[in-house]
Order: sequence, then structure tokens, then C-alpha cells
Amino acid sequence: AKRAGGGDYAIFDATMHDDAVSQLTLQTDLRQAVERGEFHLAYQPIVDPASGAIQSFEALLRWTHPVRGPISPADFVPVAEEIGLIRQIDRWVMHEACAQLAQWQRRFDDPALRLSINVSAAGFVDRDFVTALSDVLDEFGLRPQTLELEITEGIFLHPSAEIAGAIGAVRDMGVRIALDDFGTGYSSLSYINRYPIDTIKIDKSFIDGVGSNRETRAIVELIVKLGATLDLNIIAEGVETQAQTDILMQIGCRAIQGYHFAKPLTPEDATRVLAAGGAA
Ligand code: C2E
Ligand code: CA
Ligand code: CA
Ligand code: CA
Repeated sequence: AKRAGGGDYAIFDATMHDDAVSQLTLQTDLRQAVERGEFHLAYQPIVDPASGAIQSFEALLRWTHPVRGPISPADFVPVAEEIGLIRQIDRWVMHEACAQLAQWQRRFDDPALRLSINVSAAGFVDRDFVTALSDVLDEFGLRPQTLELEITEGIFLHPSAEIAGAIGAVRDMGVRIALDDFGTGYSSLSYINRYPIDTIKIDKSFIDGVGSNRETRAIVELIVKLGATLDLNIIAEGVETQAQTDILMQIGCRAIQGYHFAKPLTPEDATRVLAAGGAA
């Protein structure tokens, strides 16, 4: 299979994307993937750039198709959303990630070790979501504060009462909320004003330009300052170079995630990094 630049996925090229037959096959295969256990999770460390210490991990979904090989979540998550399968997948992710987190907390005797998972809009506003979340925390004996849910602005397309209810219920439970891909939507600022968000993840598109573009750097600096003022945790996403890391540290950003420190890791590799005390 062709390989995506720097990544590990088989590429769906434009013709495959447009091909209705291929889309249908993908849908059928996705349905079976859940039953056949073809999903697994990768874990990418989020680190303090000054010390290299791991603050948390983000769980990232992986699908190894029996014939096509690894397929990017950017390609199959939208399809899973379309065919109503994302809730089931999100539940699987939640359970698998919490099992892993509990195992790490025990093994490294660190009940404060944190993990974040991505939750789709459909999964988040699902009526049973909060119950499922509470069940899974109970099952693994996790402190709610050690789990963070990453949501994107897409979620705010739902009626605001529904959203406010879901966010309120999650926060009442003690689980944290992160706003993912911050800055890419239309109303990022209004959402942090309106909802009890704990964490902002500055989108990679800003981090890409932080070293080369004066305006971009000013925007990132502003977001970091805003975070300090509003007592929000700020994470810079997609940090790929030492130069970006240096600038982010200068600006006062204390959490970074990206290939420069570590790619998404297998559970075994993530465990090794934790055992080594954080240095990748
Ligand atoms: P995201 O939540 O914004 O995740 C960050 C993406 O950036 C991940 O891609 C990660 O592997 C990639 N990344 C991290 N550091 C770097 C870097 O330094 N450079 C570059 N070029 N990329 C970096 P991934 O794993 O392919 O996931 C793509 C998207 O798929 C995610 O974007 C998220 O929206 C979605 N996704 C992933 N896992 C899940 C899941 O469990 N549930 C749901 N609903 N969506 C998921
Ligand atoms: Ca994310
Ligand atoms: Ca993101
Ligand atoms: Ca994204």
C-alpha cells in the first residue's frame, strides 16, 4: 500500500474517495470491524516542554483493515458518523482507554496520571453517554479528574440546551473537558465564554506558523495569555520542531503534543516511556 507522507496509513486517493462502491465497502467493513475487534488505540504523550515530563496521554483510534491495512481515523471517523456507528466506536474507545489508564495508574502507583479521549458530537449528546461514562469510571475505579474528553466545535451545531446539559452533567461528575482544534472554527472564543471548558488545544495549523509568521505567533501568544488569565490548561498540538518548542516555551506554553517529542505509541511503547520517567 502507498504510505501517507510521514504517516503510517494507506492512502485513499481522490478516485477512491469519490467511488461509491468503495464507500459502500468501507461502510460494510466498518460495521464488521467493531464485531471483529479490528480497532486498537495508540497513545500520544502530552509533555511539559521544559522537563520532558509526561502530563497525560491522548488516546487515538487505529483501524487495521484486514486487506487494506491501516486506515486513518480522518478517513473512517466521518464515515462512521454518517452511518451512525460512531457512538458504538466511541464507547469502545472509552472502555479500552480507561482500562489502559487504570492499568498505568496501578503499575506506576500514580492515581493522578491523566488521559484524554476524543468524543464525537453524536456520542457526546447521546442520552446514555453520561451513564456509560460513570459506569466505566466505576468499573475501573478511576478518579473522574484523571479523564478528559476532547470535543470540537462541531458539537455546538447541536441545540445549545442539549449541549449545555451534556457538558454540565460531565463536569458535575468531575470529568474534564477540552476544546480540540482551537482556533479553526468560527466562534472559538464565544464557546470558552459560554461553557465550562478546562483545556484548550491550539490547532496544529497555528503551531506550524509559530516560528515563521509574526501574526500567527502573536495569536498563539494571546491564546496562552488568555489561558493563564482564565485558568485554562493550554496544549499546543502538532509540535514538530525544537524551534517551535523553544518559541512555545518563551511564550509560556507549558504543555505540548507532537512528533517532536513523541508520535502516537503502541500501549507497550507508551508503557516503556512511562517506565523511563517520561523521556522518549
Ligand atoms: P485530533 O483529535 O486533532 O488528533 C490529532 C491528530 O494529529 C492525530 O491524528 C495525531 O496522530 C496527529 N499528530 C500528532 N502530533 C502530530 C505532529 O507533530 N504532526 C502531524 N502532522 N500530526 C500530528 P490521527 O491519529 O490520524 O487522528 C485524526 C483525527 O481523527 C483526530 O484529530 C480526531 O479528530 C479523530 N479521532 C482520532 N481518534 C478518535 C477517536 O477515538 N474517536 C473519535 N470520535 N475521533 C477520533
Ligand atoms: Ca484530539
Ligand atoms: Ca486536534
Ligand atoms: Ca481534528
